[in-house]
Amino acid sequence: MRKKIKIKKKPFIILFIVVCLVSLLLVFNKANSPINMEDKLSKLGYSSSEVKTIMKNVPKDEYKLILKKYNKSLVNLLSSKDYKEENFKKYIEYYEKNPKASIEDIIVIMNSKYNLMKYPASSLLASLVKEKYYIHRNVIRYLDYGNSHEAEARKIISIVNSKADYKFYTDTKEANVKDGNLILVNKFYHLPDKYEPDDLVTLTEKYNQGVNNKMRKEAADAFMKMVDGAMLDSIILKNSSAYRSYDYQVNLYDRYAKRDGKEKADIYSARPGYSEHQTGLCSDINKIDSSFANTKEAKWLAGNAYKYGFILRFPEGKEDITGYKYEPWHFRYVGIDAAKVIYDNNLTLEEYYAYYIEK
Ligand SMILES: [Zn+2]
Repeated sequence: MRKKIKIKKKPFIILFIVVCLVSLLLVFNKANSPINMEDKLSKLGYSSSEVKTIMKNVPKDEYKLILKKYNKSLVNLLSSKDYKEENFKKYIEYYEKNPKASIEDIIVIMNSKYNLMKYPASSLLASLVKEKYYIHRNVIRYLDYGNSHEAEARKIISIVNSKADYKFYTDTKEANVKDGNLILVNKFYHLPDKYEPDDLVTLTEKYNQGVNNKMRKEAADAFMKMVDGAMLDSIILKNSSAYRSYDYQVNLYDRYAKRDGKEKADIYSARPGYSEHQTGLCSDINKIDSSFANTKEAKWLAGNAYKYGFILRFPEGKEDITGYKYEPWHFRYVGIDAAKVIYDNNLTLEEYYAYYIEK
């Protein structure tokens, strides 16, 4: 008898376990069912239209994140035109870290392709990541510069990308000669010791009126094309100063420094090794004087030089990036493709180099 009863118990125990599991599963499902969610949200104080917004936009797997208490910011987040469902979890996590930040800033920052979770949310950061020339490895310097200077995001990015948040002639490096026509020589990048290009050619009288009449072959060809092109518009252009050797710059800079002091000389003259003229890729055209800016020749150059691969190297309003005052006469050869990008986007070579070459 006893033995028989024992055998019959087993199926009942199994059945009991199965029933328990099924019930648990049903209860679990009900908790996450939409109807139940709507109820819970109403109880938390959300209006029926808010409930609709939430149900429409929150991913089902993330319901647990929103059932703590009524939160108007959540509704604003979900109603924003920039809201992306796939970023929902990131928005919530970032918002919890930055409860005082604006929802729009949270969305912009988390929508960016960079991982910015560890940086405090701010309107400055949001406006920075929207900028075309944002470079992620510079983010801390952008924020430092932006928090200590009154400047727009684009300006902050230009300054920092160009290293101009550092003092000129500090943290200097050797320019990369392999960059060819795009080599960057400025107050942070100097040429190798006694560098001299090996393909300098001499400009003939038709194209030149100065002592320093040599340019690198490709730049010289482009320069002559430009002068010929200008002539068709009755504009007469001539080189006044192109390639200048290291030793020449030593003399020039020393003369200026003696006359005006180093600090003043630095604003209009390059220290030896730091002059773009040593690259053989630039030319001071016609009159080396600020009065040149108002001539029809300067205006023609400003609007047409890029078509021949030349850029106005030290533009007005970019002095804090280039480190030089406006020089309407100084044109630098970079090739037609780069010149067009620089012209179209109102960049300096510094900004172009940081984003398109160095990055
Ligand atoms: Zn010059």
